[in-house]
Amino acid sequence: MTAQTVQQGDLVTVIGLEVHVQLETDTKIFCGCSTDQTDEPNENVCPVCLGLPGALPVLNEGAVEAAVKVGKAIDADIPEETRFHRKNYYYPDLPKNFQITQYDEPICADGELEVAVEGDRRTIAIERAHLEEDPGSLQHVGGGIDTADYTLVDYNRAGTPLMEVVTAPDFRSPSEVRAFLAELEEVLEYLGVFDAERDGSLRIDANLSMIPADEIAGDGIDEIGADALAAANRTEVKNISSHKGAEKALAYEETRQKNAIQRGRAVEQETRHWDESRGITVSMRSKEEEKDYRYFEEADLPPLRVSHWKDEISIPELPSARRERFQDEFSLSEEAASKLTSTKQVADFYEDVAGEFDPDLAATWVADNLLGELNYRDMEITDLEGRLDEVTRLVELVATDEITAKNARETVLRSMLDDGRTPDEVVAEEGLGKTDEDEVQQAVVEAIDENPGAVEDYESGDDGAINFLVGQVMQKTGGSADPGDVNQLLRTELES
Ligand code: ADP
Ligand code: ZN
Ligand code: MG
Repeated sequence: MTAQTVQQGDLVTVIGLEVHVQLETDTKIFCGCSTDQTDEPNENVCPVCLGLPGALPVLNEGAVEAAVKVGKAIDADIPEETRFHRKNYYYPDLPKNFQITQYDEPICADGELEVAVEGDRRTIAIERAHLEEDPGSLQHVGGGIDTADYTLVDYNRAGTPLMEVVTAPDFRSPSEVRAFLAELEEVLEYLGVFDAERDGSLRIDANLSMIPADEIAGDGIDEIGADALAAANRTEVKNISSHKGAEKALAYEETRQKNAIQRGRAVEQETRHWDESRGITVSMRSKEEEKDYRYFEEADLPPLRVSHWKDEISIPELPSARRERFQDEFSLSEEAASKLTSTKQVADFYEDVAGEFDPDLAATWVADNLLGELNYRDMEITDLEGRLDEVTRLVELVATDEITAKNARETVLRSMLDDGRTPDEVVAEEGLGKTDEDEVQQAVVEAIDENPGAVEDYESGDDGAINFLVGQVMQKTGGSADPGDVNQLLRTELES
């Protein structure tokens, strides 16, 4: 915990998040429609997800399994029985005029996630994580939400399984929020329940208030009392779709509220919209309250009992654990371990390569060379599906000294990525294999390095000393080199 001191007159920034995560399933949460969102608008719809009269929802088992995995990963309580509710409101993206969600009995409660922020470790409490259906999507034409000429609606997204992850108001800065989102996304990807590449797969509502330090004096800023939290007017910023966007929107909101308070104006409790292109938040409406939604139980779905199979659902080693293990097992720096665990695919590949060759060499090749070249090309390791063996082969060529590290990095790897050739093809076609000459040259350099006495004699005018060095090179090359050439090479090297 941070032991920051607060002073009279200071304002403390308090942030809590509601993160909507699309779970990656083939079909929607209450019907069999595809969740593919690259299809033509309104192609993946049926009476259930269009909310036609009489259509009945059937719960997707895969979505429940994904939710249980998330619950286990954030160390949440997963109750024996959980229920669905209807949240009633009218909006054009919601065909039934209610959203099936969870209310007082969510599938996950009381979890947490630890994040590293500037060297500090912070534990962010997760109050709940519940299952619900995504609404459709709106496309505003000719302007933003408040200025468009007209709006198109696409129900392909309607019914995509969502998990809403609600944190406690535990964040004290926008940068902590960004670190948390990165960690959460990594965890979700490790679980295989989430596709970060999909547009809008992570959407964030961010609540922010500024609390006068003197109201919380004595508690320390990590332990702000419930009274102070409830008394503070907060804004909820909607429509944030990236980590960076969240950090920027919250920094904007922090400054805006601070300015208002310092000028003696009240902060309205309201919902605001993040306008990414203008980099500002704009007021949308006064904040709705729970009673506005007239929650009641979804009678078309029976209570869900997961007690009998939640123990059978397992999760893989999570990024934080793997990061620590990589540091211990392979003696990696924290930075290298972070890079090498950034996705499960990268971590799996590193472990493969480190198992076959030297872990340091593997780290250089995977973390620096491979990820660097992929990043430069805007590619991911998943784009190399089926070709990772070729990268392993390239590392082998370096490890066994068949090509130089420089050629491997600058010619072979780049050609592999740019024109799809295998490492052996590039080596053969570009003539990169180490030649006998390379070997003799290397032996010459070694002989000089290893025999400083002879080198000194030679340099002080004892020409006969060269013969000793020639002998050393001949030994290293197993007698295959030409003594005359070696003599010449030695003289050139010693003169340079
Ligand atoms: P509501 O009933 O208005 O939805 P919740 O208690 O469910 O409020 O909290 C919604 C979100 O607001 C949570 O992420 C929570 O952490 C956050 N939150 C609560 N109080 C504050 C506050 N004073 N400042 C900032 N965020 C807050
Ligand atoms: Zn459907
Ligand atoms: Mg709420």
